[in-house]
Order: sequence, then structure tokens, then C-alpha cells
Amino acid sequence: MKKYSGQKVVITGASRGIGKALSLAFLEEGALVIGIYGGNKESADGFQLECAAYGERLELHQCDVSDPAQVAAFFVNIEERFDTIDILINNAGIRKDKLLALMDHESWQQVIDINLGGTFNMCKHAVLLMLKQKYGRIINITSPVASIGIAGQTNYGASKAGQIGFTRSLCKETARKKITVNCVSPGFIETELIADLSPEQVKAYKKTIPMRRFGKVEEVAAAVLFLASKEAAYISGSVLEVNGGL
Ligand code: NAP
Repeated sequence: MKKYSGQKVVITGASRGIGKALSLAFLEEGALVIGIYGGNKESADGFQLECAAYGERLELHQCDVSDPAQVAAFFVNIEERFDTIDILINNAGIRKDKLLALMDHESWQQVIDINLGGTFNMCKHAVLLMLKQKYGRIINITSPVASIGIAGQTNYGASKAGQIGFTRSLCKETARKKITVNCVSPGFIETELIADLSPEQVKAYKKTIPMRRFGKVEEVAAAVLFLASKEAAYISGSVLEVNGGL
């Protein structure tokens, strides 16, 4: 028996970057991973192939987490087939950086709708399923930008700060039903999300990190798996920072 054998884990943004590492870590620990991806079918298909050894323990669904109707349809399917889920990780996220003076409404709205709206849409349904079994773990992937800020990221920073406020309120609603709600806040992690940084920016950002390096996706996954564990039963409403001392 592995640590997560028999547990059903829903992960958004499951086939790339941090989400891919999360999927692999939960698969290794015996879980059934029900992953969501946004629009990149090629990388989802590639990941499914890579995971052939896990058989039916990985399934990937295309679903836009910012669309309430698509999320509702996803959960109807999940409830019909599995009745409930044990763990939800809201990891899907995007950036559309622009200085505020140059930011169009679409760049604002899309980031808020996916990063924060997606968290709301997913939690709304997941909590109802978790309530049936009076157990659940919800982990929202936020960012240090929520508290330290970065020029050009008013939209991203607001969405990530919103996830923290959301988490702290939701955890109070679900505490007595043994559903914990926490955030993991990764610092700079080597994924495609930050692949557009210039070598000069990478050098400058690394200087601000006490450990002088960016983090690895596996280091984020380790923190998420801890909060998702049964042992983390008394931790709720917290933000676990994985950022090299930032
Ligand atoms: P990434 O490599 O760009 O992957 C983003 C994932 O989100 C992809 O799987 C993507 O799906 C999915 N996604 C985007 N829009 C979606 C939508 N509307 N519906 C469903 N899925 C959608 O990013 P990452 O670096 O792994 O980031 C994961 C999370 O960590 C994000 O919330 C990000 O804000 C947070 N974070 C990252 C860093 C970092 O330095 N990397 C630091 C702090 C926080 P497709 O594959 O279909 O495109």
C-alpha cells in the first residue's frame, strides 16, 4: 500500500510545469489522478503516453477552469463515476504582464478569471463532493507576488492575493467537516511560465533569493503532498512558502 493508494486527486494544469510534477508525485504514491489541462492537447497527449505505466490511474480532461459551465460538466462526470474526491489542487494559472498604464481590460480579466475564478469554480463543486464523505484536502497554488508585488503584475498579484483571502475564508466554512484548505506559494520555479525572462532578469532575480537559485517543480510537489496528507489534519488556512528564503 502506498501513501495515497485509493485516493482520488483532481489537479488543474496537470500536464505541464508544476502540475505535471504534482501528477507524477501522486501517481508514484498510488493515487488516482484526474487531471485538467487548458488547451495544450499535444502536451497532454504526450504526458499521457509518458505515464502509460500507471495505466488507468491517470486521466486527463480538457476543461477551461474559468468557464463555470465546463467545470460543472467536469464534476457531473466525476460524481457519476467516483461519487467523491479526496484532494483538489488548484494549480492552473497564467501570466499576462503589462504595466498598469498599458494594461488592457482583457489582460486583467483573463488572469483574474483563470487564476482566481478558476479556484472558485473548482472549489465550489469539489467542496460539495467532499462534504459527502466529511473529508478533503484543498490546496491552492498562489505566489509571493501576492505579498511582495512585481511591477507589471497587478493582474497576477491581485489574482494570487485573492486566492489567499479565498483560502482563509473557505477554511472556516469547511473546518468542522474535516476539509482543510491551504495555499502553497512557490517562488521562482523553472517552468515554461517564466521561460520568457531574459538572462539579465534571471540573474537579477536570483540575486534576490537567499539560496541564489530557482526552485525545482519536485520541491513544490513535496510541499503539496505534505499538505494533502492525512497527517496534515490540523493545518488549515495556511500559506506554505517554497521559495528559497525569499
Ligand atoms: P505552466 O508551466 O505555464 O503551466 C500552466 C498550466 O495551467 C498548464 O497546464 C495549462 O494548461 C494550465 N492552464 C492555463 N490556463 C488554463 C485554463 N483556463 N483552464 C485549465 N487549465 C489552464 O505554469 P507553472 O509554472 O507550472 O505554474 C503552475 C502554477 O504555479 C500557476 O498557478 C502559477 O501561477 C503558480 N506559480 C508558478 C511559479 C513559477 O515560477 N513557475 C511561481 C509561483 C507560482 P495547458 O497545458 O493546456 O496550457
